[in-house]
Amino acid sequence: MAYAYDDQNIFAKILRGEIPNNTVLETDHSLAFHDIQPQAPVHVLVIPKGPYVNYDHFAAQASEAEITDYARAIGEVCKLVEVAPGNDGDGYRLISNAGEAGVQEVPHLHMHVLGGRVLGRMLK
Ligand code: 5GP
Repeated sequence: MAYAYDDQNIFAKILRGEIPNNTVLETDHSLAFHDIQPQAPVHVLVIPKGPYVNYDHFAAQASEAEITDYARAIGEVCKLVEVAPGNDGDGYRLISNAGEAGVQEVPHLHMHVLGGRVLGRMLK
């Protein structure tokens, strides 16, 4: 599958420093920052620095170093969200929307990590 990456998307601009962000964690290959329109008391986005549209693009084309770094960064953010005020160390939700069916707004791979309250049930 050919993946077309649009380098004018908002997260590419954040990575280039053209748009400010509220950084939670930065590693060699990943960046995590607070969502501008939080859907929960704590809502952090974790993105790879490389130009990947979605998770399957990333899994197919990222280097081992990028994959390891991103997996670890997501894990770190999950831990931070889990102990954030109001969350009492009691869980989080990890989501990635992709494409039209997934209702993806920003075409740069991102994981949403949400917590800080009991979230509604999404899937049955
Ligand atoms: P998606 O629907 O693509 O999974 O989610 C995109 C997310 O990016 C949304 O939750 C939206 O609030 C967030 N977002 C969009 N523009 C910006 C921005 O400029 N800064 C930050 N921090 N988040 C953004």
